[in-house]
Amino acid sequence: MQKTLILLKPDAVQRRLVGEITRRFEQKGLRLAGLKLVQAPRELAEKHYAVHKGKPFYESLLTFLTSGPTVAMVWEGREAVAACRNLMGVTDGVKAGPGTVRGDLALSVQNNLVHGSDSPENAATEIALWFKPEDLV
Ligand code: ATP
Ligand code: MG
Repeated sequence: MQKTLILLKPDAVQRRLVGEITRRFEQKGLRLAGLKLVQAPRELAEKHYAVHKGKPFYESLLTFLTSGPTVAMVWEGREAVAACRNLMGVTDGVKAGPGTVRGDLALSVQNNLVHGSDSPENAATEIALWFKPEDLV
């Protein structure tokens, strides 16, 4: 079954939205395969967002992702990558549709509460960055 990496970014933890957001993934019917609270070191943030290196928002994004604890989760299910991206909504909280995590709960482009892998290949790479194989159930 397909797996995807979901991060509840530091703004989600700071705003006490961990339960609210996790509930949405649970209720969709996905299976939780891994869960941990991580204070991401800069090196991990750099690897996670390597694709954005050189973009104007890159440094600010790293500062944001390392600004407090992140909840890292692995969810599994049919088309888990697409299912989770649909639940999250598009990047900009203003443009994200109602009913999505970002559409309902975020107003920012950067501080948009959640990360989700954008392909099964990237999911495998990202899961390996955040979890040891023995941490997954
Ligand atoms: P994520 O990869 O976190 O799931 P995404 O795939 O919707 O989000 P990306 O284009 O991969 O969006 O950007 C990664 C993250 O970088 C965004 O979630 C957001 O936090 C931040 N970001 C993206 N674009 C901008 C921007 N123009 N200004 C500030 N921050 C941005
Ligand atoms: Mg992305």
